[in-house]
Parts: sequence; C-alpha cells; structure tokens
Amino acid sequence: MSQKVTQKEIWHETLHDSFGQYFTVEKELYRDKTEHQDLVIFENAALGRVMALDGVVQTTERDEFIYHEMMTHVPLLAHGNAKKVLIIGGGDGGMLREVCRHTQVEHITMVEIDAGVVEFCRQYLPNHSAGSYEDARFNLVIDDGVNFVNQTTETYDVIISDCTDPIGPGESLFTSAFYEGCARCLNPGGIFVAQNGVCFLQQDEAVNSHHKLRHYFKDVSFYQAAVPTYYGGIMTFAWATNNLDYRHIDNATLQARFVASGITSRYYNPAVHHGSFALPQYLLNALSAAR
Ligand code: SAM
Repeated sequence: MSQKVTQKEIWHETLHDSFGQYFTVEKELYRDKTEHQDLVIFENAALGRVMALDGVVQTTERDEFIYHEMMTHVPLLAHGNAKKVLIIGGGDGGMLREVCRHTQVEHITMVEIDAGVVEFCRQYLPNHSAGSYEDARFNLVIDDGVNFVNQTTETYDVIISDCTDPIGPGESLFTSAFYEGCARCLNPGGIFVAQNGVCFLQQDEAVNSHHKLRHYFKDVSFYQAAVPTYYGGIMTFAWATNNLDYRHIDNATLQARFVASGITSRYYNPAVHHGSFALPQYLLNALSAAR
C-alpha cells in the first residue's frame, strides 16, 4: 500500500494490522500482478532495492545477506558433505547465490511457484542471484513446493524452504503435508530448514511448525538471526533432522569446514552459527507449553 505525500511516495508494509514499517519510494522499478502475487520492486535510499509480494517485504539489497547466509551456511556446514540441495521458493535468487558458493554441492534444484518472481528479480535485483542462475548445477522447477516434495523421486541432503509467510501461496509450505514430503525426500542424515517468521510477532508460526515437524523428525528446533527489514526482533529458522549431533557440532570442526569452503561472508561465522541456536526464554516456554 502506498500514498503520495508532499515530497515522496511512502510505501507501507501490510504484514501486521497495528504495527509496521514504511519506506520512502525513491523510484518504482516494477509493479505488476504475477500469476500468483502482487509484486513491487522499488528503490529506497536506506536499503537499496526492495521487493515485496502481496504487501509484505521479501528482501532488500542492504540486509538480504544476513538471511541468505544463515539459511545456507548453517545447514550446509553442519552437514559437511551435502551434494544435492533443494530450495523451495527463493525466487529472488539470493538463496541460490549462497548455496552456489559451496563447491562440494553437485546439484541444486529450486522449486518456485511464481515464474514472474524469478523473471523480474533476475532483471531488477541482479545482485541477489549474481549470475547463479547460470550455474551448471542449477535446475529450476516452476511448481507448488508441496506438490513437488510429495511427487519427486529425487532425494536431497539439505532442503531450504525460503518461502513467503503462511498467507496466500506460502500457506501450503507450513502444512504437515509439506513437512511430510520434505522428510520423505531427504537422504539419511539430511537437514530441513525453513524461514519461520519473527517469533516475537508471529510466535504461533514457530509453535505450529514445531508441533508438526516433530511428527517427522527426531531433532526439531530453531535458530535465529535479526534481519532489520523482517522487523520486530529475531527471525526464527526452523531446523529439522534425524541426526542429533549436527546441532552440537564442535567449533574446531565447524571452523575447519568454514575455512576449507573458502567462503567469505558478511554475517556468518562459526561463533554466530553456534550462538544462533540459543533461543529466548519466551519462545522456549511457548514451545514446551505446546507439547
Ligand atoms: N526472504 C523471504 C521471507 O523470508 O519471507 C522469502 C523470499 S522468496 C521471494 C519467497 C518465495 O516463495 C517467492 O518467490 C514466492 O513466489 C515463493 N512461494 C510462495 N509460496 C510458494 C509455494 N507454495 N511453492 C513454491 N514457492 C512458493
């Protein structure tokens, strides 16, 4: 939603009814209704290019690295030998860029419901994908993620659900059917991670995901990072695997893997990796109360 004011257009996020954020619109680059969503991309003086779907900020050039580094390097370095990676959603291309940095990964499939998001983000957010769509390991599938994970015969070592919030097309990616499908197409020792909202404002999302995931995985928890434009506090990332050791990987191993990867990061490091699994007491209380 946007309104013209005397000197600049103001774009207001519509995620929460009574509490939110706004952006001045220096220049609107693209606005259209794709097959599934309202998509807008505009320039903001503080955050660079901003992309929103159905009135909800998806990503900004200035802070996207925090989110994309944490949703890729944490599971991939904890796993240590992932060859096949599945990204669900991820249409802006940032998640693919970070997965491609892991040279031991041999196949990357991205299942995105909206071809328009991929097309327009390639054009208007080129720094997100940064050429990774041309990576020979990459394969794009246009489909609903829940359909794909319940029909594919492929299996994966890491699945990353980089989806919108559980409204509109994203709703199906927070269901038991989706989680069951992911559990089915994960290899033994595989890891599933998913964006799971800002728990201070969207606590039910984390509680509901935790409750559902526990039916399919032995180790279900969260890790977190504060991403400024996902306002309201820390964003929680769902963590689900049958390998109970991954979350307790020793620092020396993690450090060695990070150095061997040759990846230069702007947010991620092994200490942040370990610290990200420390969760606020209010979330722990809510999760245990829902058991
Ligand atoms: N970083 C963002 C966040 O945390 O909210 C997510 C960014 S990414 C642009 C979200 C993507 O999920 C969009 O491209 C959207 O089209 C895609 N998506 C939504 N529902 C989907 C579904 N059911 N299957 C596959 N992709 C979906």
